[in-house]
Amino acid sequence: MSRVNRREWLRRIGAAGAASVAVIGGSAEGQEPGQPAPVVRRERLALEDFQPKSMLHVPETNVTRSRFPVIDVHTHLTMGARHKSGVTLGEEIRVLASPDEVLPVMDQKNIRMMVDLTGNYGKGLEEAIQRFQRLHPDRFMVFTEPGWDHFNRPDYTRWQADEIARAHQAGAKGLKVVKILGLYLRQEVTSGALVKIDDPRFDLMWEACAAFKMPVAIHISDPEAFFLPIDRFNERFEELNNHPDWSFHGRDFPSNRDLLEARNRLFARHPRTTFIALHVGNNAEDLASVSKCLERFPNMHVELAARIGELGRQPRTARKFFEKYQDRVMFGTDAVPNGTSTPQQILSAKLYEIYYRFLETEDEYFDYAPAPKPPQGRWQIYGLGLPESILRKVYYQNAERVLGLG
Ligand SMILES: [Zn+2]
Repeated sequence: MSRVNRREWLRRIGAAGAASVAVIGGSAEGQEPGQPAPVVRRERLALEDFQPKSMLHVPETNVTRSRFPVIDVHTHLTMGARHKSGVTLGEEIRVLASPDEVLPVMDQKNIRMMVDLTGNYGKGLEEAIQRFQRLHPDRFMVFTEPGWDHFNRPDYTRWQADEIARAHQAGAKGLKVVKILGLYLRQEVTSGALVKIDDPRFDLMWEACAAFKMPVAIHISDPEAFFLPIDRFNERFEELNNHPDWSFHGRDFPSNRDLLEARNRLFARHPRTTFIALHVGNNAEDLASVSKCLERFPNMHVELAARIGELGRQPRTARKFFEKYQDRVMFGTDAVPNGTSTPQQILSAKLYEIYYRFLETEDEYFDYAPAPKPPQGRWQIYGLGLPESILRKVYYQNAERVLGLG
């Protein structure tokens, strides 16, 4: 660019609008050495308005159906209806969709079975089992949950173990423990000090699950970034800014490491209990550490739900992880019907297509969620291109074994 043209160009962008802001400094490109740095006027753009379109010309594979029938071990078709301070109270459930709404997506996307993890307990559990599992026993499976609101009764330990027996009798196929444990449940249920994950009052519950061969799907802690300040260095700034209640920074919250260590003590203390550590052991950012846990605890398995954004941005490490632990990884999505606030979890055909593309293809740099902007962090993912033998295990064989399906 000649001197005259540069001056003309600067004049034009200077007049471009009131939103411009003057920035002093030279640009690296075309700057001649020894020249005074020109005044450049740059547009300001709010981060939330930034929606860059990738200019990469790379293959895009449309995977409309999974190569093998899928068991999605992590969905929420029902949920406890009442909550206080993050803790589910009472037996009542909310039914988020009917089988008639979900089955067409399942048929279209080659999903053989969905596991509804959040069936609650008591009357609510019976209703969830009746609506899904009893009507369609080959398509749905329901898990029970602890009766958190009973925690401060003196006979809780015994009561909870008996409740697992009742749930088993009613047809529940496993136990789901949400992150209430460690982050919300307190000594007086919603007040007092936080209850530790390895509190001995749950010991009989874990043992009852082993006795009834009910696997425990356990969500402990959350992404590392949720424990850091919500500031410009936080890689999940936009997500946390949209959901500040998801932050566990400060107050009396334990650190991410303390939570995971308490969980590890639990796994060690109950070797007969089968644990499915949800969301890639809730440490998908650190697969070396998840690998160490899988080596240490033969009773531990993992699933993928809502973490393809983490796995897919480290495709070489993730692929090695899948190869090494191909017998321990299950397919899950955390799908919730009719949701809106978390696009990476809304039960839809599109959601499943992204998971299939991630597992089956070697496509590069694509969205991990069906949303105009990446909802968990500003990055794209790369497919793993898993071979058929591993796909079979991840899609259904490992789940069949862990869930006791024929
Ligand atoms: Zn979930």
